[in-house]
Amino acid sequence: MKFLVTGGAGYIGSHMVNFLLKKNHDVTIFDNLSTGKFINKNRIKFEKVDLINLSKLNKSMKNKKFDAVFHFAGLSIVSESEKKTKKYYLNNVLATKNLIKSMIKYNINNLIFSSSASVYGLPTTKKISENHRTRPISEYGKNKKEIEKILIKFGKKKNFKSISFRYFNAAGADESAKIGESHHPETHLIPKVLESVKHRKKNMYVYGNTYNTKDGTCIRDYIHVNDIARAHYYGLKKFKNRKCTLTYNIGTGRGHSVLEILNGIEKITKKKLNIIFKRKRKGDPPILVADCKKIFKELKWKPKYKNINTILLTAWKWHKKT
Ligand code: UDP
Repeated sequence: MKFLVTGGAGYIGSHMVNFLLKKNHDVTIFDNLSTGKFINKNRIKFEKVDLINLSKLNKSMKNKKFDAVFHFAGLSIVSESEKKTKKYYLNNVLATKNLIKSMIKYNINNLIFSSSASVYGLPTTKKISENHRTRPISEYGKNKKEIEKILIKFGKKKNFKSISFRYFNAAGADESAKIGESHHPETHLIPKVLESVKHRKKNMYVYGNTYNTKDGTCIRDYIHVNDIARAHYYGLKKFKNRKCTLTYNIGTGRGHSVLEILNGIEKITKKKLNIIFKRKRKGDPPILVADCKKIFKELKWKPKYKNINTILLTAWKWHKKT
C-alpha cells in the first residue's frame, strides 16, 4: 500500500516509517525538518514540506493517491507550548487543518492522527479510559483536543475517516539503535537522563517528591515506540468500515514512578546517579496511566515491551551509539 507519513523524520514518525518499510509498503515522508533529522534511505520518498504552506502542500499531494496518511508532524514540547502559543497553534492546529483540506481535495480520506494523553488533563480516575473527560491543562493538550474535534466534524460531514491515538509516554528506540528519541531542548525524563549519563554528568533532577504516590514522585505509563507504530498499523483495518472516527489510548496500563525509572537507568547503565529533588514542574499531573481495554479489544493490539528495563535498554543502546 501507499502511505504518507508527515513528520517522518521525527521520533515516533521515523519508527512508523521503519515499521512500514519492513512490511514492504511504499512510503513517502513530508517533513519540514524543523526538529527532525532525515536519515537517507533509498526506499523512502522524501519531500521537504511545511504543512503550513497549503499551496505547496497541495502540489506535493497532487497525484499521489495515498491509501492512508499517518500524521506525526507538529511541535511537542509541553513547556514550550505555554510560552509560544501562536507558534504551537500554527504548527499543530492550522497545519493539520491544511493537511485535511489537501487530503479531501485529492480524495484521500484515511488519516491516523498522533494525539496525546495530554488531552485529558488532571485524571479523576486511577486509570484513564477514552471516555474520561478531556480538560487539557497545557496549550499542547489544547491543540490536540482541538484537532480531535476537527476530525469529528469532518467525519460527520464528509467521507473522511480518522483514528486519533492518544499516546501516554512514548519511550525506547528501535532495536537496530539507528533511530531514537532526541529533542531540543531535551525535557523528557528518559532521554534527558540517558544523555546526562552518556556525558558523565551525575546530577539528575526529580521534579517533586511530595506527590500522593508510592514514593512521592510522578507516575507515568511508558510505552515502547515500536508498540505505538504497530498499533497505528493495526488501526488501518478500521478504515474498511463505511464510517470511522475513532479514538484509542496507547499505553501499557502500568505506571512507573520517576524514581523507578532512575533506578532502572542505574541498573542498565551500571552508573550511580546523584538524585536531587527539585520543586514540582508546572502542569505535571501526579499519575497518568492508561486504561487500554478499548484498543486491546477492538484492534487486538497488546504491547510487546512489557518490562520497563527492556524499554530503557533499547533507549540506552541508541544514546550510546549517537
Ligand atoms: N521529570 C523529572 N526530571 C526531569 C524530567 C522529567 O523528574 O529531568 C519528571 C516529570 O516531572 C514527569 C516525568 O518525569 O513527572 C515524566 O516527564 P516527561 O517530560 O518525560 O513526560 P510527560 O509526562 O511530562 O509528558
